[in-house]
Amino acid sequence: MDVTFVGCGDAFGSGGRLNTCFHVRAARTSFLIDCGASSLIGMNRCGIDRNAIDTILVTHFHADHFGGVPFFMLDAQFNTKRTRPLTIAGPPGLREFYPRAMETAFTGSSKTPPRFELNLVELESAQRRSLGDITVRPARVRHAPAEGPFFAYRIDVDGKTIAFSGDTEWVEIVRKESAVPSRLRNAQGESPAHQAEAVDPDASQRGHARTRYRDRLSDRRGRIDGGGVAGSSVF
Ligand SMILES: [Zn+2]
Repeated sequence: MDVTFVGCGDAFGSGGRLNTCFHVRAARTSFLIDCGASSLIGMNRCGIDRNAIDTILVTHFHADHFGGVPFFMLDAQFNTKRTRPLTIAGPPGLREFYPRAMETAFTGSSKTPPRFELNLVELESAQRRSLGDITVRPARVRHAPAEGPFFAYRIDVDGKTIAFSGDTEWVEIVRKESAVPSRLRNAQGESPAHQAEAVDPDASQRGHARTRYRDRLSDRRGRIDGGGVAGSSVF
């Protein structure tokens, strides 16, 4: 399984990083976790075959996580001439939000049916669901108060697990659901997430605690790369 960090930045392009988008290539499928506004640029840079992507899994509807979907759809319709079915899965409200996002980005586009089968799947928190060759279990997390819901995902594919927190304040589910491999724990048995909380006890007050985990994880990049980790990570 290959995981490509197409974008791991915030909504502001901090550090020159692109909006959130992870590409996962497994044995029989490939999929995206989030598709932020800059994702098509990133996928082009990385040489990612968009027509091979079966599923786009979105954590929430903010533009830095969902804003790339209209670009992806137009690219599929007119540029790559996609024929393969596509599933876009996300929190409740997806079916209503999708045409609104398409119409806002490209007027009239929501009225043009795609030339391929498009499935919009609204997921329910804590309910496992199979989407082709992957199985996902969403969990509610805490982000902007007025909108939502906001999901974290535990994704099983090829006998491996990926856990992704999405945007969230510190919530217990992140610690519980992240089976961080033992090789990433320190001598006290703490995972990077535990250590991030210890180093920054105010993390629970921040809207983007994942940045904290990512920074801690980046310190361990050598170990991750060298060890060929195929387990879970939290960002
Ligand atoms: Zn957000």
